[in-house]
Amino acid sequence: MHDFGCPKIKPSGKTENGERRMDVRLQDILVMKKSHPCGSDRWLVLRTGMDFRLRCCGCGHEVMLPRSKAEKNIKKILREE
Ligand SMILES: [Zn+2]
Repeated sequence: MHDFGCPKIKPSGKTENGERRMDVRLQDILVMKKSHPCGSDRWLVLRTGMDFRLRCCGCGHEVMLPRSKAEKNIKKILREE
């Protein structure tokens, strides 16, 4: 992959290199890089494991995603402590 010298923009305070496995738990809210057609970019985690089951916080649509694909799409994890 060529980046043609374009600087990589990284959000502050987050490792973006993928060495560390993301810690996704039930009831977490995932903020995705791509937003759903309904306009929401937030998904509630209903199931973890090999696949994630996620519910769109905007319209309630539910999807199953392979973990690897979901993790690539995660921008941020919101969790109520
Ligand atoms: Zn939606």
